[in-house]
Amino acid sequence: MATARLLDGTAVANAIREELRPRIAAFTARYGRQPGLGIVLAGDDPASAIYVGSKLKSAGEIGCRTDLIRLPASASLDEALAAVRQLNGSDAYDGILVQSPLPAGMGADAEQVVFDTIDPAKDVDGFTPINVGRLVQNRATLVSCTPLGVIELLSRSGIPFAGANAVVIGRSDIVGKPMALLLLHRHCTVTICHSRTKELPAIVRAADIVVAAIGRTAFVQPDWVKPGATVVDVGINRVTDAADVDRLFPPDSPRRAAFAKRGALVVGDVHPGVADVAGALTPVPGGVGPLTIAMLLHNTLVAAERRAAIG
Ligand code: NAP
Repeated sequence: MATARLLDGTAVANAIREELRPRIAAFTARYGRQPGLGIVLAGDDPASAIYVGSKLKSAGEIGCRTDLIRLPASASLDEALAAVRQLNGSDAYDGILVQSPLPAGMGADAEQVVFDTIDPAKDVDGFTPINVGRLVQNRATLVSCTPLGVIELLSRSGIPFAGANAVVIGRSDIVGKPMALLLLHRHCTVTICHSRTKELPAIVRAADIVVAAIGRTAFVQPDWVKPGATVVDVGINRVTDAADVDRLFPPDSPRRAAFAKRGALVVGDVHPGVADVAGALTPVPGGVGPLTIAMLLHNTLVAAERRAAIG
């Protein structure tokens, strides 16, 4: 008896891609070169290799130049910094992305140090202090791709922002914090929740818009959600235990059949039963995920256009 309107991230991501395609062609014709995306991938984390592969493929398909600098798991922090500096120094690259996580051997602060080294004009992940500061001041040019994608998905789905109570669960630099700022700039009244938040269900119950970016399977329960609220599920959790699948999905759910076939399922941070209460909901998969790559392409073009305009 699911009642929530499902917000189709795949369709919105495809629409964004089709809008970018002629702009990328026009850039290439005007400046005699393609917008360039350089990615640094260090180590052999299989999930990172898959993410990077789909980023390179999507960017290449839409007309960007793409290059990958691969470093072994044994690479030093200096080698990672040298790769970033090489991309900083080349005019062929408008966007630089360093895939997280970096190998543990580079040290606990390695990601911060490496991200801080990226030229802010090429920082298509929006992680550098300059770009975060610009976001705080509501004059951002390059914003973290996942929260930016959430805003695109909600705006293009006609979800009203001004005056809405928005609750963001999660305060990471990559998702939660930039998400909260983007909602604030659209005139939502924003509450940021985290692992020390007291009375989380009661806070969520007051929300017109809930964004769950926690990393815990099916964490947000149906009775936490105000009927008719918009619920955005950013979570990507791999479920491999049949008992969890049986607990989460009713016997006739196609998700159970998918699990029986593949032995694993991707489930979000929002319990599937929320679909019976929410007014609108992003599915997992097929909700926020596809937007992240679409916004990376968007940011790469924005960076290229700005760099070219500055000369
Ligand atoms: P993260 O850095 O681990 O942050 C998780 C946040 O959730 C933290 O702020 C943490 O609070 C909070 N949290 C953990 N347990 C909680 C609890 N019991 N109650 C309330 N808050 C709790 O994760 P992330 O990078 O933001 O990612 C979040 C999820 O989104 C993950 O599933 C990730 O895979 C997914 N993701 C998806 C995309 C996409 O493209 N769809 C992109 C990025 C991330 P503290 O700060 O107090 O520890």
